[in-house]
Amino acid sequence: MPAMHIDIIAAIPDLVREPLQHSIVGRAQEAGHVTIEVHDLRDYATDKHRQIDDYPFGGGAGMVLKPEPLVRCIEACQSEAPADAVVYLTPDGEPLKQPRVNQMSMHDHVIMVAGHYKGIDQRVRDHYVTHEISIGDYVLSGGELPALVLVDALVRLLPGVLGDASSALTDSFQDGLLDAPAYTRPAVFRGHRVPDVLRSGNHARIDEWRDTQRIEKTRTRRPDLLDNELGDELEDE
Ligand code: SAM
Repeated sequence: MPAMHIDIIAAIPDLVREPLQHSIVGRAQEAGHVTIEVHDLRDYATDKHRQIDDYPFGGGAGMVLKPEPLVRCIEACQSEAPADAVVYLTPDGEPLKQPRVNQMSMHDHVIMVAGHYKGIDQRVRDHYVTHEISIGDYVLSGGELPALVLVDALVRLLPGVLGDASSALTDSFQDGLLDAPAYTRPAVFRGHRVPDVLRSGNHARIDEWRDTQRIEKTRTRRPDLLDNELGDELEDE
């Protein structure tokens, strides 16, 4: 199974470098399941000040990331072959959901562009970006943290990364439901007991209990998931 390759293009590369060294993403790189390259956007600027932003045409507040360094970097990342996806992390993009993560986890090469200030020049979005993804309806200062979110979501799905692959399959959203409650020892904590069924050893009853919990939790907390149009759309793609 070939490793996935991820390029992250960032104006503040240090924001992503250290977090990528830890936990599941760090171990996945050590084990060769994924290679991740972080690119400093300033390295692709050609003027002596290494300028990557400029004033917006039409005036108004906030700078805009210039097209030339960004496109030079995107092209360098694809010098050998086109990437499967060039993702711009942006609050006005498609809200990130598990079906999109599942689909992208099958790609060999994903490029992620982190914006800053007012964002990136629209012409880069129009002509070089293939996917625009938002990690939620709020605005962060830069796309580095959203890129880390997407990297983590993707990498944990790569074959061999999680010790027990079934763990990811039973997580929330994988089949349109939230996950069941989880308990560990002690069986009684400050007077609060673990549900008896989980200690019964009867796996059919445990599965049934978990299914009931998942459906009930989803119905009360996220009824929208029971009618997940995005998942259906992606299955058709
Ligand atoms: N002017 C943009 C807007 O209102 O849609 C916001 C720009 S934001 C201050 C700077 C950068 O942070 C964006 O270019 C994007 O890369 C990143 N960003 C901020 N919030 C995000 C979110 N919810 N999801 C993904 N990226 C986000």
